[in-house]
Amino acid sequence: MLARHPWVFSGAVERVEGAPRDGDTVEIVSADGRFLGRGYYNSRSQIRVRVWTLEDEAVDRQLLARRLAAARRSRERVGLRFGGDGATTAFRLVNAEADRIPGLIVDAYGRFLVVQLLTAGIDQLRGELCELLIAELAPEGIWERSDVDVREKEGLEQRRGSLHGAEPPARLEVRESGLRYLVDLHAGQKTGFYLDQRESRRRVAEHVRALAEHDGGGALEVLNAFSYSGGFGLAIAAAHPRARIVNLDASSDALELARASFELAGLADRQGDPICGDAFQELRKLRDVGRAFDLIVLDPPKFAHAKSQVVAACRGYKDLNLLACKLLRPGGILATFSCSGLVGHELFQKVVFDGAHDAGRYATVIARLGPGLDHPSLLSFPEGDYLKGLLLELR
Ligand code: SAH
Repeated sequence: MLARHPWVFSGAVERVEGAPRDGDTVEIVSADGRFLGRGYYNSRSQIRVRVWTLEDEAVDRQLLARRLAAARRSRERVGLRFGGDGATTAFRLVNAEADRIPGLIVDAYGRFLVVQLLTAGIDQLRGELCELLIAELAPEGIWERSDVDVREKEGLEQRRGSLHGAEPPARLEVRESGLRYLVDLHAGQKTGFYLDQRESRRRVAEHVRALAEHDGGGALEVLNAFSYSGGFGLAIAAAHPRARIVNLDASSDALELARASFELAGLADRQGDPICGDAFQELRKLRDVGRAFDLIVLDPPKFAHAKSQVVAACRGYKDLNLLACKLLRPGGILATFSCSGLVGHELFQKVVFDGAHDAGRYATVIARLGPGLDHPSLLSFPEGDYLKGLLLELR
């Protein structure tokens, strides 16, 4: 915490004075009695205190208002304005610790806000939070998606439902980098969309657009593995007039949403038969029948949830990347990602290298990929820096 890390772990707490309830604000004091800061307390969590401030200032509605305003400003500076009609209407407005509002996610989806309250401390502020969001942003509705497992560690129940105004429609249309997508705020994954991949979708699409201009009339066969609602595939199809996309995901709901989004975008005829199944098995099947692709996106879910899982996670990443390299034609492109924070950038690169090497391929790095500016991370909070990707060309 002295190094500006926003968490105080249970092992660092010598004693608790008074009887704070879970979620209450406490003062953090050093062993020799110096004021260190203020944060909110939770006796049930290993993260005993989440730090709001290192200053001697009140933790109240005004502080929350200032932090929300700062988060909003940092998005507006890069053209992400809530309720605006810019090229992107779906983005993260508040990224928890990195925006110095521990435990709070707020995502913008068109005229709707989706909030995720991850801790008892922020859960207590739900009323104030809604009032401030309504006063500042006048959303059509505020929808809560606090239906995540981590709340149990805080002694909280999962919650989902309307906090204010209208309920979002079952399928809401949003724009990202100028393209229209359908999102499901009720039951979709995360808060409805993988907003953290927006920059990578844009970057991969940009590369593909350049290829289309350069390569003349060639087709581009694309396998979008772990496609969710088709995000990468749709961006690629819109950027390359001869791209044909095969979406692959374990969730049939996700693939159905992808189909509807492609239709909305006028790209229905650019979808090949989607594959619903386990990617590890399906990639093997594709290899066994001799299928080949010009571009593969590999965007698996988090494999490492604890340090003890890192080795197994790396085995998984290697397996997938090896299979993808085998499925790619010479000159093919691989966009490969890991959202396991415990697998660092360097380790991920090494694992991908291992996969490419075992497939007998050279891989050139075209770009290193990561989240956009609406997903800031603090240097003092490396836990927040979980997403990394490589755009590679295989020889
Ligand atoms: N690329 C997506 C986000 C992918 S999130 C986007 O840009 O929006 C990871 C996806 O992997 C989820 O949709 C999940 O349903 C899917 N998934 C999880 N395990 C899987 C498996 N073993 N095989 C195939 N898909 C899987």
